This record gives sequence, C-alpha cells and structure tokens, in this order.
Amino acid sequence: MSSIILLGAPGSGKGTLAQQLKTKLNIPHISTGDMFREAVKGNTPMGLKASSYMKDGHLVPDDITIGVVDERFTKEDVKKGFILDGFPRTIPQAEAFDSIIKNKGLKIDAVILLDVDQGLIVRRITGRRSCPSCGNVYHIETVKPKVEGICDSCSTKLIQRKDDTEEVVKERLETYEKQTAPLIDFYSAKKILLKIDASRSPNYMMQQLEVLGF
Ligand code: ADP
Ligand code: ZN
Repeated sequence: MSSIILLGAPGSGKGTLAQQLKTKLNIPHISTGDMFREAVKGNTPMGLKASSYMKDGHLVPDDITIGVVDERFTKEDVKKGFILDGFPRTIPQAEAFDSIIKNKGLKIDAVILLDVDQGLIVRRITGRRSCPSCGNVYHIETVKPKVEGICDSCSTKLIQRKDDTEEVVKERLETYEKQTAPLIDFYSAKKILLKIDASRSPNYMMQQLEVLGF
C-alpha cells in the first residue's frame, strides 16, 4: 500500500506523474484542482466560489478546500492508498489533513517533492493541453497526442486551461512560493519528504520513483 502526496510548483508535472502512478499502483488519484474544475463545469455553488479565486491564480480558501478533501476521504477506496495531487497547499491544510487521516487510521508514506527550475515552468504550462473528459494531460511540444488536438484515450478535443496563460501562471508561481513552499520544511521535519528531479521527462521521474521503491 502507498499513500503519497505530490508536492511541487504549478507545472512541475504533478498531474502527469499522478496519472502514471495511478496506473502502476492501482490506487485513487485525488486532485483538488480537478475536483474544483469539475465543480466549476457543473456550476455548483462551490464551483462558482472556487472559480473566482482560480481565475486569478489564487488559492481557494482553506475551509472550502479542506471540506472537499474531508468528504473525498469518506470513500472506502482511500484505504488501499492514494495519490494526492495539489493538496495540501498550505500549512493549515496540511494540519487539517493530518487529523482527517488520523481519524481513519491512515498515514502518509511519502511526500514527493517535484523539484524543477522556475524558468522551465512558464514554457511547460503555456504549452499544456488537457482532455476535459478524462483528464489526460499533453504538451504541444513534449507530450504530443497521436492526432494533434485530440485525446489519445477518448478522442475528445483537447483544451487549454483558463489559468494556463502567462499572466496567471506568474501569479500561481508567487502563490506557490508564499503559501505552499513552507510545506517542504513541514514534511522534512516529519522525515517523509523525498525529492525528485522534475526537470526531466515523466518517464525519468517514474524511474527515480522506482529506485525509491515505488
Ligand atoms: P497547478 O498545480 O498546475 O497550479 P491545480 O490543478 O492543482 O494546478 O490547481 C488549479 C487551481 O485550483 C489552483 O491555482 C487553485 O486556485 C485551486 N486549488 C487546487 N488545489 C488547491 C488547494 N489545495 N488549495 C487551494 N486552492 C487549490
Ligand atoms: Zn480524454
């Protein structure tokens, strides 16, 4: 069983790595970003609220985010392990998550830090395209679909996320530095932080994880 948190700046490849790990380990991939985008698409009250923060590259408030994760962790499937992608993103979220899992007798096996140069990130993100139907992520230069603009898995037309423009990306990077980077020390102190080089390909990241025992 593996219970993994993926930590890293926007564009560090958390989503792509999570998809590959999910296939390999057969455990649920839980992405708060995906959950919020679903809620936005469905026009739910929570989605409306979340979108007002997301469009500017800011974090959705902790109480909303923690609530979403708390509810997700009432499902039984997390007992076989989980890959958390994009959560926690603040110290209060990390503390709340500790109590959510403690109540269920679960624990975090590893927090994997995807280490990448900031310069690479803007190019990565602005070239990113994703499938609105199955969530697969591509890149116009490095992870091309077989047919341009079409998802390999489900043939849906690929889209660019609204917050993947250069302006919003800069704001998201700043948000990461201020609010999320402190989690590196938080999890280092618990001796569960592992760092991988995320400037290379997704396959190379998987190889590094294999060496680490995943
Ligand atoms: P990325 O890591 O590439 O920025 P995500 O898909 O993880 O993208 O998140 C997109 C947006 O959703 C974030 O910019 C933020 O507004 C919101 N969001 C996702 N996860 C969280 C979280 N744990 N706390 C607060 N906001 C979040
Ligand atoms: Zn698809």
